[in-house]
Amino acid sequence: MTSTPNANLFSRLFDTLDDPSRLAIETPDGKPISYGDLIARSGQIANFLAKRGVKVGDRVAVQVEKSVQNLILYLAVVRAGAVYLPLNTAYTLNELDYFITDAEPSLVVCDPAKAEGLRAIAAKVGAKVETLDANGKGSLSDGADAEASDFATVIRGNDDLAAILYTSGTTGRSKGAMLSHDNLASNSRTLVDYWRFTDNDVLIHALPIYHTHGLFVASNVTLFARAAMIFLPKLDPERIIQLMPRATVLMGVPTFYTRLLQSPNLTKEATGHMRLFISGSAPLLADTHREWSARTGHAVLERYGMTETNMNTSNPYDGERVPGAVGFPLPGVAARVVDPETGKPLAADEIGMIEVKGPNVFKGYWRMPEKTKAEFRDDGFFITGDLGKIDPRGYVHIVGRGKDLVISGGFNVYPKEIESEIDAIDGVLESAVIGLPHADFGEGVTAVVVPQAGANLDEASILRALDGRLAKFKMPKRVLFEDDLPRNTMGKVQKNVLRDKYKSLYS
Ligand code: AMP
Repeated sequence: MTSTPNANLFSRLFDTLDDPSRLAIETPDGKPISYGDLIARSGQIANFLAKRGVKVGDRVAVQVEKSVQNLILYLAVVRAGAVYLPLNTAYTLNELDYFITDAEPSLVVCDPAKAEGLRAIAAKVGAKVETLDANGKGSLSDGADAEASDFATVIRGNDDLAAILYTSGTTGRSKGAMLSHDNLASNSRTLVDYWRFTDNDVLIHALPIYHTHGLFVASNVTLFARAAMIFLPKLDPERIIQLMPRATVLMGVPTFYTRLLQSPNLTKEATGHMRLFISGSAPLLADTHREWSARTGHAVLERYGMTETNMNTSNPYDGERVPGAVGFPLPGVAARVVDPETGKPLAADEIGMIEVKGPNVFKGYWRMPEKTKAEFRDDGFFITGDLGKIDPRGYVHIVGRGKDLVISGGFNVYPKEIESEIDAIDGVLESAVIGLPHADFGEGVTAVVVPQAGANLDEASILRALDGRLAKFKMPKRVLFEDDLPRNTMGKVQKNVLRDKYKSLYS
């Protein structure tokens, strides 16, 4: 009789490991951590979690700085059959109160500096508190030190939860996206093949690990491939360039690429050993893509995903990596563009709502059945909230979040189209187009422009340059200037911040 294999992500990652001595992670100070070390330590932590009363299906909320011990804690929680719930390290106690009350974890792991404040919050839901600092020290590691490393990985089914990640929530309250063992495992396996990861790869890992990008895409893909990663606490362009001669892959948000391009040390020679540069989590400007190719000889591979769906589309490994496009639906993922009102599929090149379906798509929002129902079509497609189109070659293009769409005088204005025109003007570094309340038009199209250093631009010169290039209804009514666009930690432009700042412009 054959037994059903354990669907637990941990088992799928490590049950077939043949060489435990292989390097998995190099710490920021150069210490090697082997696959065997990861597995042994995860066993110790899983035993400690069990001792602290964490049961199968319990949430373990974690707000700690990035460290290898933090990553192993994630593996241990999953291994123990509990649900990993990472929290952005920037969240204040006030914000943590919401997440902890909503998720009702049985254990909260936090930085020692926050322990006192968190104890009061945790007590409200009966959760215990353990600590882990940026160096991997604290009551959690002390407790784990005393435990045995053997731990029988808890049997889990494909649909059982492995993690809950709260969406960044730029409008309304943030929602807990429930991700199953199969959501995570299937997507990482697909990406290993699509991006040709092998055990010869060395990934420069400089992303945070409380977000889907650094936690699942970067870490799970590396571990499934038996590759190695060099852990950096955060984006450090010069350090990344120094590491390139002994690495092969970089995964970053667009800010990584714009910051690296500012360094004179980024050259063809410096990147000669690298095989792949991947970007995602926010749109990579077509200009950045071209500049990167010209400087390094590498075409950045841009992909598109979200917390709720893992990765949906990717530019091809071998085929053309089109600047400004996010590529093809991944194998096993169906993507379509529909009329947002009727749900009717649209023809090639028509702009509408992007919807996706596949083993990558989450199980719904934690304790929000109504919200979950509203975000899925009857045939199982998830409504991403992103507007875009699929071109005749099958490449998906994103034009922006649905909520960033500007409706002026009854006409839909897609910000990206106008931003691309403005970005092409000499002296413009980047731009953001937003809609602001306007008595006549409903919303007034408004451009916020960041000039390049030393550029001599004003409102009239931008409007002159756009004249004749855009239909009248798309022309910005006002052009404002800023030194920087407000961005969140994943490099996404926070248009809601701009809308708020200038909300009275036309009143
Ligand atoms: P998050 O849940 O924080 O990962 O954010 C997901 C959102 O980021 C998506 O719904 C998109 O709006 C945006 N996003 C992710 N990747 C890209 C990309 N390559 N280009 C444009 N937008 C992206």
